[in-house]
Amino acid sequence: MARYTGPVCKLCRREGEKLFLKGERCLTDKCAIERRNYPPGQHGRARVRQSEYRLQLREKQKARRYYGVLERQFRNYYERASRLPGATGENLLRLLETRLDNVLVRLGFAASRRQARQFIRHGHWLVNGRRVDIPSYQVRPDDVITLKPGSGAEAAVREATELTSAVPAWLQADHDGLTAKVLRWPERDEIPAPVQEQLIVELYSK
Ligand code: SF4
Repeated sequence: MARYTGPVCKLCRREGEKLFLKGERCLTDKCAIERRNYPPGQHGRARVRQSEYRLQLREKQKARRYYGVLERQFRNYYERASRLPGATGENLLRLLETRLDNVLVRLGFAASRRQARQFIRHGHWLVNGRRVDIPSYQVRPDDVITLKPGSGAEAAVREATELTSAVPAWLQADHDGLTAKVLRWPERDEIPAPVQEQLIVELYSK
């Protein structure tokens, strides 16, 4: 599966806000946004003319980067969201929010989506007792997520739980037993992605 392998702090600097892509480092003053909050590159500090299209494009890029999804995959999410009942923008965010890699972060079982993806690809997580090694796996209400017994990732997962004080109400986590349950679909106001989804819908509706 193709994935972005370049410098991740540049992505935050491009979007002008913290996207929390690096786990613990994002919470320290080593964060690149704290130090150099302007776009990367030679002309990073040059004035940019804002246009409606630019705002929409940046919002889409921000959502993509926040969830760690490549262009083609993001477009596929949009197509799926537009076929579901309800508001397309909300559906889009709900699909992204319920990816297994994101859910592990929300549960506090991974410090970042990158780390979550690595754990998943290496087969450390079970969903309903079956190994799932696909980071984009879509969780559903009543799914039970557990760390594989004897997993070598246990120490790193426990370390990650210490960074998380609260778990969203649509999820239930047991940080001692390293198990969790999906209680229901998330509501829009329970999805903390810094994204105005309406701008993405406008971009793709052109
Ligand atoms: Fe973004 Fe985290 Fe890097 Fe800060 S440290 S720029 S929040 S990835």
